[in-house]
Amino acid sequence: MSSNTYSLSGRKKTVSDKKLTWTERIYLVAIFKGMMVTLKHMFKKKVTIAYPEQTRPFSPVYRGRHMLMRDDEGRERCTACGLCALSCPAEAITMKAAERKADEKHLYREEKYAEIYEINMLRCIFCGLCEEACPKQAIYLTTSKQIAKADVTRENFIFGKDKLVMPLEMAIHNTKQQNQA
Ligand code: SF4
Ligand code: SF4
Repeated sequence: MSSNTYSLSGRKKTVSDKKLTWTERIYLVAIFKGMMVTLKHMFKKKVTIAYPEQTRPFSPVYRGRHMLMRDDEGRERCTACGLCALSCPAEAITMKAAERKADEKHLYREEKYAEIYEINMLRCIFCGLCEEACPKQAIYLTTSKQIAKADVTRENFIFGKDKLVMPLEMAIHNTKQQNQA
């Protein structure tokens, strides 16, 4: 059986343990070869950019940060049914449901709402399945340039309702535009 039998890529090489020659031991040829690679890349177009000062254009189908939507009266749409959490392959979503009180009808559209709704952005793979599973059109991965920003603690990547729920002003603005159209 050849040594390549177990190589899936076919790039596997048998490492030689032969003694280095004098020229190989002074590494000059290897250093020169390495410098040639560096030199070659110095004149190529750079593939990296100085983010965040520079940004690349976003794809029209880019899936950005999640947003928990409000209806045209500014009420939260989510009814804490849990379908988004069940459909999430990364198990990134958790929530706690609560019953809407009589004086909260202006806040929540349904009788049940998410008292706590959290997405772990370190787990999320931005697949959009939560959006597809939602029967209330309550969660969207925004097509704007909103991204989960870099941070230094894991806790800050657990996005709660404070970061996820659509700002009220945005809901009012959207409703005004709809009415004008
Ligand atoms: S986008 Fe995908 S991975 Fe992220 S929370 Fe939604 S279902 Fe889970
Ligand atoms: S976002 Fe949609 S699917 Fe998820 S709990 Fe709320 S209503 Fe249900």
